[in-house]
Amino acid sequence: MKPIQMVDIVSQYQKNLSQLMPLLEEVFQTAAFINGPQVKAFAQELAQFLGDSVIVIPCANGTDALQLAFMELALQVGDEVLVPDFTFISTVEVLKLLGLKPVFVDIDLNTFCICPYAAEKLITPRTKAIVPVHLFGQCAPMEKILELAETYNLYVIEDTAQAIGAEYIFKNGTTKKAGTIAQVGCTSFYPSKNLGCYGDGGAVFTKDAQRAARLQMIANHGQREKYYYETIGINSRLDSLQAAILRVNLQHLPTYTQKRQLVAQFYNQAFEKVEQIVRPSIAPYSTHVFHQYTIRVPAHLRNQLVYYLSDKKIPSAIFYPVPIHQQKPYREPELGDALYPNTIRACQEVLSLPIHPEMEDAQMEYIAEHIIAFFENY
Ligand SMILES: *Cc1c(COP(=O)(O)O)cnc(C)c1O
Repeated sequence: MKPIQMVDIVSQYQKNLSQLMPLLEEVFQTAAFINGPQVKAFAQELAQFLGDSVIVIPCANGTDALQLAFMELALQVGDEVLVPDFTFISTVEVLKLLGLKPVFVDIDLNTFCICPYAAEKLITPRTKAIVPVHLFGQCAPMEKILELAETYNLYVIEDTAQAIGAEYIFKNGTTKKAGTIAQVGCTSFYPSKNLGCYGDGGAVFTKDAQRAARLQMIANHGQREKYYYETIGINSRLDSLQAAILRVNLQHLPTYTQKRQLVAQFYNQAFEKVEQIVRPSIAPYSTHVFHQYTIRVPAHLRNQLVYYLSDKKIPSAIFYPVPIHQQKPYREPELGDALYPNTIRACQEVLSLPIHPEMEDAQMEYIAEHIIAFFENY
């Protein structure tokens, strides 16, 4: 059995080597490192994958994608943006950098995504936007969020860094890919994401051609024409080598997703009879691409479980250990813990297990056996 890892990018790279090398070679031979043909081809291929006439604006990373989306909205300093209290820090960070006010919202404990009912209670006249994060690979409840947006006139920016390829299923049966449901979608191609490169990368999605042009301009120093600046921008580019790698990985994404779903299914069955484990629940309105397979276990046993697993050479991870509203730079004295019972509980109970497309049956069985054995003693 190969050593178990949370992700196994090296095995993937070795399998894709013969596909990758000619593309990388072309980049080197043409020195088109910035905005070369590979970047344009990738943007088009990803747009095609997403469907629905989406335009893809590549950028340097997922955090920049969020920053670009907010810069494009041109909100006023002090405007409020609803964000989940349980997520990666990027969203909140860019809001602060732009002088906007993140308003933290509790999550639904079943899906770990933002709770629209909790969000509604926090809406004020200054609330201008909401950022549903499709956490761990499953869509947030977008239909309800779009209703809120309509009622209160809010922009919706999807953070789909963990859910590329997931499908939202509307009540009328139609589907849309995560990141293409609202006005703007933001994603990351960080190596460990479901669609990753071998460095940093990100993209913004929109169906609005004018918005796309502005996003492109902001990502390119705010220039419409070389050396003529229309707005304050940033320098945020996906480089051509990463784009070439992403073209190859995009071809495999459907297979990779299927493999993740099979691993999740295996874990689900294995843990069915383990009372102390709450398995990830799949909402009726979304498919799940299992960026993470995240269980909940009794808080008082979690540390012991982590040590036990690590002793057996099984890695695991806690995404995320602390609610954002309790993090030092983001503490909001007026927002006490009482607003966040689900986030606080999730932070104490979650544990993410190894899941990736290169997992072997023997590894999955070994992990499940040891977790089951651990709980037999409690
Ligand atoms: C990874 C991630 C990001 C940021 O992506 P980077 O490319 O690392 O900047 C943003 N949001 C979520 C939910 C993420 O998981």
